[in-house]
Amino acid sequence: MQRGEGGGFEPVPGTERELPAQLVLLAMGFVGPEKAGLIEDLGVDLDERGNVARDKEFRTSVDNVFVAGDMGRGQSLIVWAIAEGRSAAAGVDAYLTDRDMLPAPIAPTDRPLT
Ligand SMILES: Cc1cc2nc3c(=O)[nH]c(=O)nc-3n(C[C@H](O)[C@H](O)[C@H](O)COP(=O)(O)OP(=O)(O)OC[C@H]3O[C@@H](n4cnc5c(N)ncnc54)[C@H](O)[C@@H]3O)c2cc1C
Repeated sequence: MQRGEGGGFEPVPGTERELPAQLVLLAMGFVGPEKAGLIEDLGVDLDERGNVARDKEFRTSVDNVFVAGDMGRGQSLIVWAIAEGRSAAAGVDAYLTDRDMLPAPIAPTDRPLT
């Protein structure tokens, strides 16, 4: 598999093969936020990877609802969730007070340097 243009995984043509097995366990880890419950009840928009879509201030498509961390970024690391939490707090503060005073260490679209 390889990353496609939309960020999802795509098969690499010509690499398919069959492996004999008696038991197959899928260790997929975090494959996206649970849709049933809060996400469906709120009706927030999702991005092309099934995570909760947000704008540059971490606002979702629903008024007064913000998202940070794995729910918006997808499977990631704790340092990103912490940084997103701080940036989302700055977004909430700006939304509530119309000021721009709190530090926002990262943008929702920031990715690790490669
Ligand atoms: C097995 C595993 C190992 C990992 N190992 C590492 C590691 O070694 N290093 C590292 O940096 N990262 C690791 N990660 C990733 C890291 O845990 C996540 O990136 C990070 O925890 C994301 O933080 P978060 O606050 O966005 O989400 P979470 O930590 O998942 O917190 C979300 C919280 O929201 C709660 N919640 C969900 N739905 C609702 C609801 N409807 N109402 C109320 N509460 C709700 C959940 O119970 C949870 O407490 C690992 C992840 C997994 C799954």
